[in-house]
Amino acid sequence: MKGIRVVAMIVLGVLVGYFYRDSAPAVMLERLVARPCEEPLTYVLGDVDERFGVSNDELTLALHDAEKLWEDALGINLFEFGDTPSARTIPVNLIYDTRQIQSDVSRNVRDVLGNERSELTAMEEQRDALAADYEKALAAYNEIRIKYEERLAAYNKTVGEWNKKGGAPQDVYDELAAEGEALDNDMQKVVAAGESLKKLTEEINTYNDSIAAEVVRYNELVNSYNETFHQENPFAQGTFGSRTINVYQFSSGEELRIVLAHELAHALGLGHVEGDASIMYAKTGSQSLKKGLSEQDITHAKEICGL
Ligand SMILES: [Zn+2]
Repeated sequence: MKGIRVVAMIVLGVLVGYFYRDSAPAVMLERLVARPCEEPLTYVLGDVDERFGVSNDELTLALHDAEKLWEDALGINLFEFGDTPSARTIPVNLIYDTRQIQSDVSRNVRDVLGNERSELTAMEEQRDALAADYEKALAAYNEIRIKYEERLAAYNKTVGEWNKKGGAPQDVYDELAAEGEALDNDMQKVVAAGESLKKLTEEINTYNDSIAAEVVRYNELVNSYNETFHQENPFAQGTFGSRTINVYQFSSGEELRIVLAHELAHALGLGHVEGDASIMYAKTGSQSLKKGLSEQDITHAKEICGL
């Protein structure tokens, strides 16, 4: 019987890469005032390109969440939302250019990859269910096969003994003939069980072939994704300069909030800090809203604010 081929080494590609948040110096000279946190910094909504699909209300909410990160950690009112722009307010712009276009395309490809991965997982689950059926069928097959072989051996032994004696009396002969027929019956069952095992094996092998082909396809997609979207020169997601916050790229509401928290802090005078979970880390790392500010973020903010 043909064995089940094992699909060895399914190594799935990993998506890698990072963006620069921006290229700010360690301390922002633009707001090097004596007491930068004494009065709250007022920001207003600037130009919000509708192609981001973020309404003014949603951006206001995101800004509120971003400022709250710092204010909760430091226990002071650092930022305020202003209704009217003035020389003292900081506009927050969402500027749509190739950066966000690339980000949107990249997200679509990631969605496709996610779907491919789910399909693959479903196929693997079906294959595993079949493999479990196969194990059960194999155990049942072995059981009837061993019983048949034992019964056959006993029959052959008895027949051999009678043959040595030159033949059996009629009643024994009839009994042995009946046993021979029963054995033929059993053999048919063993053969049928073997056939259905073979069918299951073929089915599983077909699944394994499809899975192997799908894994190759998936890995090719991941490789081309990594080549396309993670070049040598990652770009900035946002900037703070000339008393203006510009946001160029984000792929989720959470990322928007993190970029805003980062740029708002620059506006306050903070520079970059170490630790890839830090909001003020220069690159995208492992920041999350759930983690919030890192120790480095808080220490640096307190230093700048003179707390
Ligand atoms: Zn920065």
